[in-house]
Amino acid sequence: MAFTLEERLQLGIHGLLPPCILSQDVQVLRVLRNYEMRKDDLDRYIFLMALQDRNEKLFYKVLTSDIERFMPIVYTPTVGLACQQYGLAFRRPRGLFIAIHDRGHIATLLKSWPETDIRAIVVTDGERILGLGDLGSYGMGIPVGKLALYTACVGVNPQQCLPVMLDVGTNNEELLKDPLYIGLKHKRIRGQAYDDLVEEFMEAVTERYGQSCLIQFEDFGNTNAFRLLNKYRNKYCTFNDDIQGTAAVAVAGLLAALRITKNKLSDHKFLFQGAGEAALGIAELIVLAMEKEGIKRQQALSRIWMVDSKGLIVQGRANLTEQKLQFAHPHSEVRNLADVVQDVKPTAIIGASAIGGAFTEQIIKDMASFNKHPIIFALSNPTSKAECTAEQCYRLTEGQAIFASGSPFNPVTMPCGKVLHPGQGNNAYIFPGVGLGVIACGMRHIHDEIFLIAAEVLAEQVLEEHLAEGRLYPPLNTIQTVSRILAVKIAEYAFKNGMASVYPEPEDKQALINSFIYNTNYDDFVIDSYTWPEEASKIQTVKI
Ligand code: NAD
Repeated sequence: MAFTLEERLQLGIHGLLPPCILSQDVQVLRVLRNYEMRKDDLDRYIFLMALQDRNEKLFYKVLTSDIERFMPIVYTPTVGLACQQYGLAFRRPRGLFIAIHDRGHIATLLKSWPETDIRAIVVTDGERILGLGDLGSYGMGIPVGKLALYTACVGVNPQQCLPVMLDVGTNNEELLKDPLYIGLKHKRIRGQAYDDLVEEFMEAVTERYGQSCLIQFEDFGNTNAFRLLNKYRNKYCTFNDDIQGTAAVAVAGLLAALRITKNKLSDHKFLFQGAGEAALGIAELIVLAMEKEGIKRQQALSRIWMVDSKGLIVQGRANLTEQKLQFAHPHSEVRNLADVVQDVKPTAIIGASAIGGAFTEQIIKDMASFNKHPIIFALSNPTSKAECTAEQCYRLTEGQAIFASGSPFNPVTMPCGKVLHPGQGNNAYIFPGVGLGVIACGMRHIHDEIFLIAAEVLAEQVLEEHLAEGRLYPPLNTIQTVSRILAVKIAEYAFKNGMASVYPEPEDKQALINSFIYNTNYDDFVIDSYTWPEEASKIQTVKI
C-alpha cells in the first residue's frame, strides 16, 4: 500500500491494490493496532514473525520504534516460549537447517542460501536453549531472534545475517514423540561425527563468505561450548555469547558498581554460585580486568571463589576441570553456600547456577554485615530461577546493595519513598555493538580484550543519575545509541591494535559504522515519484 502510483504502474500491480497510498508511518500504526489486539505474548511473537516474513522493512521499523517494548517478545523471555512451541508457531522456515546427515555437502547447502554477502551468522545446535534445556531444531528461534537484534539494536543489514541450526538430533523425549517436531527424530549424535560436522561448517562458511564472516555460537551445551570456543577462537572470527557476551555485560555492571564502592576491581573478593559457561566466562574476564589494573594473574585468581553443584571449589577436590582448577584455593570442602559466604566474606556474590532462591535471607543479610555496599548479582534466568529478587535484595540490605539480574525486575519503592531501578544484565547491550564493530573493520579473530573494551564502554554509558536510581546499565530504551557507540569504539580499538583487515584505514570510524547501518525506510525505485491523485494526470504518458 506504500507503493506510489508510478511504482504500481511500473510493477504492473496497479488495480491489484486499493487506490489509497499509505505512508510507512500509517502502516506502523496499523501493525500496532493489530499487535494490541493479540491476547498473549506468544501470539504477539507469531504476529511479529509473520510481519518479518511479509515485509522486513516494516518489521524493523516497528521494532526500532519502541525497542524496549518489542525486545521481550522477539528475544527473551518470549522467544523461549516460542522455541518450546515452535512446532505450533511454525509457519515458514527461516534460516539454514544443516543436519548431521548433510556432512560432506555443507558447501552445497550454503549455496542454496539466496544471499552471497553474509557478514554475521548466529549458530546453535539447540542443546541448551536459555534455561530450558534441549529443544533440538525448535532452538532455531534463538539465532533468528538474536539476529533480529543485530538489526534492531545497531542496524546490521538483515540480508547480511544468516541464522543456522546444526541439527544433530535431540535427547528431549517429548520432542521425539511430538508429531509436530520439525527436527531429526533421533538421539543426539556426539563424538567424531559431531566434531566433523562443526569443522566442515566452519570451513564451508569461511570459504564462501570470507575469513571475517562473524560466527556467533549460541546455546550450545556446556562441554561443547567451551571446547568449540577454545578450538576455533584463534582460527575463525568467532565468539560464544553465553560465555563471552555474558562476561562483558556482567563486568560492565561491576565496573559501574565501582563508582559506588569507590575502589578498584582488585580490591574485591568475588564468590560465584555456579561454575558453568556464564560464571567461568565472567570470572576469566574479571581476571583480565584486574590484570589491566596492574596486579598479577595469580593474585587476580586468588580473589575469585567458586561454588558448583558439588560445593566450594577447593584444591584437592576430585575431578576438577583445568578451568575450574585455577580458581581452587587451599580450603576445606564446604557444601553449603551460606557457610561459604561466612568463611570467605566476599564483597560480591554472583549467581549463575539456575538455582532459584539460592541467595537466602541469611546470605543477603550477611553480605550487608560485611560490606557497606555488597554487590549482589542474581543472573540466572528465567525469573523463577533468579537467586533472589530485586525487592528481597534491596529490602534486606536497606537499599545498600548494588543489584543486577539476568531477568527484568520492576522498580522497587523503599520505605523512605526512594525508587530503585534494578539493573538487567542483558547480553543485548553487548553482542550487536561488538558484532557491528567486528564486521565493519573486518576483524579475523576476536581477542578476549575486545570483550573487556566492550564492558568498559558500556559502563561509561551509565550516567551518575542512572547510578543514583540503582541502575548499573543505561536504560534499555537507549540501547540503539549505546550499541552504535560501542561499535565505533570497537572499530577504533581494532584499527589501533592491528586487529582490523579493512584497508586503507578509514579516518572517520563513526562514518565507517554509519555506512553499514540499515535504513528501515522503503527504498524509492523510480526517479520521479508522483502523488495520487493530484498529479495522476501527469503519468498518463509513462512508458512501462
Ligand atoms: P551451565 O549449565 O553452563 O552452568 C551451571 C552451573 O551451575 C554449573 O557449574 C553447575 O555445577 C552449577 N550448579 C548446579 N547446581 C548447583 C547448586 N545447587 N549449587 C551451586 N552450583 C550449582 O549454565 P550457564 O550457561 O552458565 O547458565 C547458568 C545460568 O545463568 C542460567 O540460568 C542462565 O539463564 C543464566 N545466564 C544469564 C545471563 C545474563 O544474565 N545475561 C547470561 C547467560 C546465562
